[in-house]
Amino acid sequence: MMTYGQIKEILDDRSPQSIEALAHKAAQTTRQYFGRAISLYSPLYLSNFCSSHCTYCGFHSRHNIQRIRLEPGQYRREMQFIHAQGIRNILMLTGESYKHTPLSYLKEAAGIASEYFQGVSLEVHPMRADEYKELFAAGVDGITVYQETYDRKRYAEVHLAGYKKDYDFRYDTPRRAAEAGMRQISLGVLLGLGNVVDDVYALYQHLRQLEKDFPGVEYSVSFPRLRTVKSETLASCDVDDVQFVQILCLTRLLFPRVGINLSTREAPRLRDHLLEIAITRISAGSNTSVGGYTLLEQEKQDPQFDIKDERSVDEIVKLLKARNFDPVFTDWRHIENRP
Ligand code: SF4
Repeated sequence: MMTYGQIKEILDDRSPQSIEALAHKAAQTTRQYFGRAISLYSPLYLSNFCSSHCTYCGFHSRHNIQRIRLEPGQYRREMQFIHAQGIRNILMLTGESYKHTPLSYLKEAAGIASEYFQGVSLEVHPMRADEYKELFAAGVDGITVYQETYDRKRYAEVHLAGYKKDYDFRYDTPRRAAEAGMRQISLGVLLGLGNVVDDVYALYQHLRQLEKDFPGVEYSVSFPRLRTVKSETLASCDVDDVQFVQILCLTRLLFPRVGINLSTREAPRLRDHLLEIAITRISAGSNTSVGGYTLLEQEKQDPQFDIKDERSVDEIVKLLKARNFDPVFTDWRHIENRP
């Protein structure tokens, strides 16, 4: 593992030759370990009720938006829509409300999602290991939980209220999910909140420890950059495209087998470029509002953040094929051990 100083030196080096060399090595490593396969998934927002107040998020508890929780008939319709686009991996998200989206609600949603999707992941409030076991039994096989920033002081400044204020409980969430048997765990930092080098270094340490303790888990990482919400700026992100590319390249070199996700927060041109360098998993045809696929017209939607890449799944698949990538809809199937 590189030292903090070495990581800082690489991320501070803005010379075009160094960045090109870094990108070249990252691209080679990505092809060596992942070939030209790119996995696809879509997010499905189940609820925007949230009892936490994170200053950067459009769903925070004091934001005056229409609060919606989808009921089974409604999210089934959304799932059918996503399934019809060809997607087989879904990431279901909620705000952090133990009251509005309790374990029982999530288990029911997971069971219905399993009818349509081979991969079912959740990005919801952190839970105990025994609750993750129940979710695993209900069909969830992946947990996404970003620490957002590893800087405790900054964490306290931007997480003003609610369960998300508990830094340590969140930090230990991937461990509890791994103990419960989850197959995939995704970690990340929200770039723009804390010092970039500090956060990237801390994420690497977190991931290294998890790899050591739970080597059987498939890990992936994300580096979302802060975005506007309905064109309103809740916080700014000073990580430019060059630094963003450096972070992805460095991550690829230090963690050759770890998946790197890229969401539609990023613009099409940059996303397309990064496919050649470090990315292994992208979201496609995304909507970040509750009921955004089939239930609410666009002007009535309250997204968690504004998306920059509005291309459909079909368009993304065509683009991947034209660039000689293999779009992967599923690389996993449950085995029915029936006599
Ligand atoms: S980031 Fe999550 S916990 Fe924080 S306000 Fe948004 S939905 Fe709620």
